[in-house]
Order: sequence, then structure tokens, then C-alpha cells
Amino acid sequence: MDYNKLAELLFPQIDKTPEDYEAMFPPREEGTIITRMGPSPTGFIHLGNLYGAFVDERLAHQNGGIFYLRIEDTDDKRYVEGAVETIIHSLQFFDINFDEGAGCGPDMTDAGDYGPYYQSQRGPIYQAFVKRLVSEGKAYPCFLSEDELAEIRAQQEAAKETTGIYGKYAEKNRNLTYEEIEANIADSKPYVIRLKSKGNQGTDGVVYIHVADAIRGDVSMPANDQDVIILKANGIPTYHFAHVIDDHLMRTTHVVRGEEWLMSLPIHIELFEALGLEPPVYCHTAVLMKLDDETGNKRKLSKRKDPELSLDYYRQEGYHPQAVKEYLLTILNSNFEEWRMANPDADIDAFQFTTEKMNSAGALFDLNKLNDISKDVLLKIPAEDLADFMLEWAREFKPKAAPLLEDKDYLTKILNIGRDDAKPRKDLIYAKQIFDFISYFYDEYFVIEERIPEQVSDEDAREILKRYLETYDHSDDQSQWFEKIRTITADMGYAVKPKDYKKHPEEYKGSVAHVSTVIRIAVMGRSQSPDVWTIQQILGEDRVRARISELIG
Ligand code: GLU
Repeated sequence: MDYNKLAELLFPQIDKTPEDYEAMFPPREEGTIITRMGPSPTGFIHLGNLYGAFVDERLAHQNGGIFYLRIEDTDDKRYVEGAVETIIHSLQFFDINFDEGAGCGPDMTDAGDYGPYYQSQRGPIYQAFVKRLVSEGKAYPCFLSEDELAEIRAQQEAAKETTGIYGKYAEKNRNLTYEEIEANIADSKPYVIRLKSKGNQGTDGVVYIHVADAIRGDVSMPANDQDVIILKANGIPTYHFAHVIDDHLMRTTHVVRGEEWLMSLPIHIELFEALGLEPPVYCHTAVLMKLDDETGNKRKLSKRKDPELSLDYYRQEGYHPQAVKEYLLTILNSNFEEWRMANPDADIDAFQFTTEKMNSAGALFDLNKLNDISKDVLLKIPAEDLADFMLEWAREFKPKAAPLLEDKDYLTKILNIGRDDAKPRKDLIYAKQIFDFISYFYDEYFVIEERIPEQVSDEDAREILKRYLETYDHSDDQSQWFEKIRTITADMGYAVKPKDYKKHPEEYKGSVAHVSTVIRIAVMGRSQSPDVWTIQQILGEDRVRARISELIG
């Protein structure tokens, strides 16, 4: 068979050669780390994507490298309008920025010299490489129809054999003559192009591939023996082929992808070999798992059951990107927590991330842990910055409250409560929770959420508040203020020391704690809150008086 003639028959319109493309996309600067993210444009971007993108971003940017975005849109059924913007925008929120690729230039134009960055626009490039493989007798057209494929499959299943087109099942199409192929094409018979696999049966048994995965170490698997499809009937490449060509021509040095691709690794290795190209360093990340609330067992995060899988969740809830990043690093690198303890105030980017310290078994994702980390991270962010963050969040997700949060001084004071204490308060976790937590500072959201303690009658409560209002002096310092509460407490027959009330409940109606709770509820609507005096100073005299007056009528 004259393979050159066959290649011309199959790809008459392809006039560029692999060498032309090699020249168009020359190797990048020696030693530069190049990573990429290759999402399909479905519009759903999840925690797993972020996890991978974070590894890509760190690997590249920690070493002055390049991180680019390639859209894997060969399956056009899944294209969702605006998906590229969503990807870029969602990652930007986490401070993950691309240096080149799809939509990365001004006004969503593509940026970089290694494009096009949409696989759907790279058809002729893939075909030039397929044409080369055909001309070398390493790939061939396969005319098996759907029915024939189904029949082969049924036969293999019945015989408990591996399914697919390989060995004897591939023979017929591998051995078609030029004339037969020409006749089939003249008859418009649809065909795909398959790789002519070298198989994995060596003289001494099964042949293995060995790959040094940057996360998993030496990965050893039986070599591929399937005549996999590289070009589909519509001329579009399969993931396998596109991956090999794109990552080569875009000069990717490290391919970070989910462990679900590990099984396809032998195919990719054989493809690189057939094309005479050097494979990149593979980094197969672990699947994100969580402990199931019901069963207590580890399982994969699911789109249906776990809202936290979606990145939108974190934006909607108002998690600070720094908190999410900090948390991701704790699950990504086993030595990160230790580093953080030794360097509590260091910038997160100062941590040297390494693939070797990544977990290759399922990484456990735990929202409670994220919340704990978030409390610490938020404490380190200046209250003014946190106020800006709250406002931005509210503009998008709680627009009615946004105008209130525009009073930045007021919000900053609120967020500052208890921060400088010897043991700082750690009750701020994410914007939505923070807003609920501080909502009583805003009249529009102020509601009495709790009942007064049972030790205090309604009549007494009114009297306590009446006296409180009469004696209230906004300029009192904290001890003067508290002295007045004690006076009211004693005058009304309550114990000034809670322990006196505990010891002699028959002598008192209740204690100072019950009296203060009445005031707390009147001023803040709830019994649990930071220090009342401090809160009143922030609320301002008018608000404090108005709230109490309202209650006593
Ligand atoms: N398009 C593939 C995916 O979304 C990319 C895998 C890879 O990074 O190679 O899973």
C-alpha cells in the first residue's frame, strides 16, 4: 500500500505539514513552565476545576511561567453561551488569572501566539497531523458501521473479552486495499480514522508503560492495544488526539488533570510516540471527596446533592476568595498547615507549592474546615477591606441591603468589634452569614428575635427599660454605664451578682444577667451579642433611644 497516496486521498485539502506548524508555534523559552486549563464550555465550573486550576496557576506563576486557557469545544452540543466569560470571571474571583488563551485579551479577545485557543477552530491543524500518521502507515480509515460495531461488542461481551477495536477485530479495516478504500469513499461510506496500535503483547508477555507522574510518582500500566479513534467521521478529533496535538503545539510542559484521565494515559503515550513527540509532565489530581452526612462514608462530590461543588456557591454565600484559597492549599499540600503555623502573617503566595506534596488518594473536602479557616483569614483582612468586600457582595447578591452598606465608616466599626481583643472574636465567616450576624445594626433589618428571660415579668421588663432610658447617657464610659445597670438591678429586686441569685433564688427575682438580657433584646433584638456598651456606641444615641422608646410605648 502506498500510504502517501492514501493520505492524499483522505486529506486532499490539507496542504500544511506538521513541520509548518512546528515552525508557526516554536518552542517557548527554555525552562519556562507552561500549564493550561482545558474546560469544555458547558457553563458549569466546579470546585474540581478550581482545584486543578489552582495547581496550574501555582506551578506556572510560582516559577515565572505561563498559564493559558484552551476551550475544549469539539462537542458542540454542550456549548453554552457566555461560558468562556463565566470561566474567566469565576476564576478571577479566586485571584486565578490566565496569561493567554481564549477570551484573555481585552474585550474577551483571544491573547497569545499559540492559538487558536478553541479546539473547534483547530480542525486543519489536527488533520495535518492525522494525515502524517496515515502517510506513515500508523493510522487508517475504518468503515465499521454502527451495526457492525454493536455486533463486535456483543460478541466480545459474550466471550468475556475486552471490548473495542483491537487485534483481530481491527484486521479487516487495517488491511483494506487502496482500491477498496477509494471505492468506499466514492460510495460516501462514513469512516473514522483509527490509530494502528502497536499492541501490548511483547515476546515475554504484556508490555507496560512507565510514566513519572508529578503527583503519583511512577505510574505503570499495560500499554495501549486499542486502535482508538483519533478523528471522528465529522473530521473532528477525539479528546485523546486533540490533547496530544494541542499540548504539544502550545508547548504545555505540565498537564494537570483529574484522575479520571489516568486510564487513558496509555493511549496518550502511544499517540505521542507515534507522532515522535515528547509527552508533557503529567499531574493527575485526586478526586474531591466528602463525608456523606447520612452514611458517614467518603464519596465523590455530586452536582445534584452538593451545592458546594459549584463555584457560584462560594460567590453567592460570600466566601472571601482568600479563605477559599487558603483552604484549598490545606487540602492540596500536606505541609501547608505547618507552614501557615510557622508563618501566620505571610502572603499565601510565599508558600512553595509542590506537586510531590499532593495527596494522590481522594482529597477530602469539608465545609466546616473551610469555615474555620475562613474565620482566621477574615481576622487578618483589615476591617475597611472587609467592608468593601461586603458591599461588593451585597450589590450582587443582596441588592436591597447594598445602599445601607455604603456607609463604610459605620460598617467598618461594626466589623471591627472585638478584633483587637486578646482573644479576638471569630464570628465572621462569609458575607451572607456576616450580614445576618450584624443585621440588627440596620433599622431596616432590626427585629426582636427572642423573648425576654422567664425570670423577668413583662411589667418588670418595661420598668427596666424605662429606668434605663431615663438614666441613659451616651457619653458614659463602660464602667459608668454598667454601674447604672447595677443600680437598676438592685433597685428592682434582682441580684447584682449572678451567683447570689443562684445560691438564694428565693431572695431575688433574677440577676443582673437577666436584666442585661432585657436590654440586649431591646437594643439588638437578640440575647447573644458582643458587648452592649460597644454596640451602643456604634449604633449611636438616637438609635438606642428610639429602639427602647418604641418598646415602652
Ligand atoms: N476537556 C477536558 C475536561 O474538561 C480537559 C481535561 C484535560 O485537562 O486534559 O475534562
